Amino acid sequence: MPDRIVRAMDPEGRVRILAACTTDTVERCRLLHKMNPTPCAALGRLLTGAALMSCTLKNPTDALTLQIRCDGPIGGMIAVADAEAAVRGYAYRSDFDLPLNGRGKFDVAGAVGKGTLHVLKDLGLKEPYIGSVDLISGEIAEDLTWYYASSEQTPTVMILGVLIGPEGRVLQAGGLFIQLMPQVGESLVEQLEAIIAGLPAMTAMLAQGLSPEEIILSRFGGIHAGILDTRPVTYRCNCSLERMERNLVSLGRKELAELAEGPAGIELQCHFCSRKYQFSIQSVKALMEAAKQP
Ligand SMILES: [Zn+2]
Repeated sequence: MPDRIVRAMDPEGRVRILAACTTDTVERCRLLHKMNPTPCAALGRLLTGAALMSCTLKNPTDALTLQIRCDGPIGGMIAVADAEAAVRGYAYRSDFDLPLNGRGKFDVAGAVGKGTLHVLKDLGLKEPYIGSVDLISGEIAEDLTWYYASSEQTPTVMILGVLIGPEGRVLQAGGLFIQLMPQVGESLVEQLEAIIAGLPAMTAMLAQGLSPEEIILSRFGGIHAGILDTRPVTYRCNCSLERMERNLVSLGRKELAELAEGPAGIELQCHFCSRKYQFSIQSVKALMEAAKQP
């Protein structure tokens, strides 16, 4: 089933529901970064969360970044999504693994530990919007739900899941985003709470072969949710030689000179897609000319 996000709403426009299938996107991320299962599950949840949240961006040039800084073995994670639900991300460390937790699931909370979630929204304004909350569980979905409650004051429930097979391959990944508009009645809230409490795991529904559309229609039929549209989700990095050159120039001449001391020039690797960029001594010298700082 191709990766996508399906948007739906009830007829009165009081509840927004997004359902995502991100299996190929998370698998591509795992292969690019050669990730072990637990860090892959953690980053896969964050990437899926970023893809879902990107559907709330209004302009085609808007983008959002989810950053987790934490004291667990993963060290931290970044996920970036643009308004087209193209995502990219990386974990600071992904060469470790942990035993399954008491519920037989990947110990994402153990990999993350304590820390902070930062949400940066680049909305084309002079300064990006930044919201930060302390992690409440490190399980990612609960932390994003908590972010909405505390920073955006929009009642939102995020459900995220990544299922990884015995050979380490991502078998299923996806999520749900359920958001209430302001001033909805108590009875609708109770109805939604009952639906959410009765939901099987997202990856279990995907593994049954249910599409995001079918998940919405079968589970949220009680509130008459109707499908609005569908958009593809992809893993896409926007790195380029020009971008890497700009990064090098921004280091300043002194730092560049130190980096270029070896005979082979400089090799940079993109954190998001692992692509390598080579800079010869000659090209570093040309960049040093361009660098304004001493
Ligand atoms: Zn890249």
